[in-house]
Amino acid sequence: MSVEAIRIVGARQNNLKNLSLDLPLHELIVITGVSGSGKSSLAFDTLYAEGQRRYVESFSAYARQFLERMDKPQVERVEGIPPAIAIDQSNPIKNSRSTVGTMTELTDHIRLLFAKIGQLHCQQCGRPVQRSHASTIVTSLLQQAAGQAVMIGFPYQRTAQQTPEAIRLELQRLGFTRLLVAEQVVRLDAEAPLPDAGTPIEVLVDRIVVQAERRARLLDSLEQGLRFGQGLVVVHFPDGLQQKFSQHLHCPECNITYRDPVPNLFSFNSPLTGPSNPGVAPARATNAACSWPFAPDTVFPPMCPLPGSRPSSGRP
Ligand SMILES: [Zn+2]
Repeated sequence: MSVEAIRIVGARQNNLKNLSLDLPLHELIVITGVSGSGKSSLAFDTLYAEGQRRYVESFSAYARQFLERMDKPQVERVEGIPPAIAIDQSNPIKNSRSTVGTMTELTDHIRLLFAKIGQLHCQQCGRPVQRSHASTIVTSLLQQAAGQAVMIGFPYQRTAQQTPEAIRLELQRLGFTRLLVAEQVVRLDAEAPLPDAGTPIEVLVDRIVVQAERRARLLDSLEQGLRFGQGLVVVHFPDGLQQKFSQHLHCPECNITYRDPVPNLFSFNSPLTGPSNPGVAPARATNAACSWPFAPDTVFPPMCPLPGSRPSSGRP
């Protein structure tokens, strides 16, 4: 049975007189009392000392010699104590950005943890954002669409200067002969109308039934799509649905690209956590240096001539 409280039995450190009590976990607990009543003896010399002592005990004998040894507190027993952090009351920190995390250097570890094993979710749609590779897309297709005839395409990024004829010639030079317009396959010949400027053109790479035996061809077509689609490939299913895959940290549904997570991205005083970097709103919210919106007329007095200056001419 898990203990939902720290149980102290028979604490006799300093002024404590055989004190026994339960302290619930996950709660903010305040210890009050007159000077000399044993508040610090309970919090620091018993609770923290025992938590720290057990933590140090978990290291090898070799590692222990480099760590500060703490004396065993005078207490009969302490149960259910997790690893502890203590912040001394005498530490005068004047910086408003100082938190429990920065004082204990926990934020450094948490930053590293987030950057290394954090799962990125799109800030707009909440979907997990992952890099797709041709092999992972094939595995996903074999799981969800085995036996279905799918169409594999990629969005061709046209430039404003390209005429429809130039696009046609370029795609034919690359070996593509068909486009996908509103789920319909259109031959890429002189008569085929191209979508309006500004609308991405979707180029058909392959029509194929998803089967394990056709894995090599699926891989080849998806790799081709990712290469010419600048990392983006679209798979169309027979029911009219489509799924986009990206090989970047990019949400294909919302068309938002995310940068690789690095520890500095989770720091509240790093220039990386600016408004131009999406996905880091929680870190930005704690930035004491960030600008707060305010109404200027509530801060600055109304415009009035300075003493001794003449009113500007041309005004009533
Ligand atoms: Zn999204």
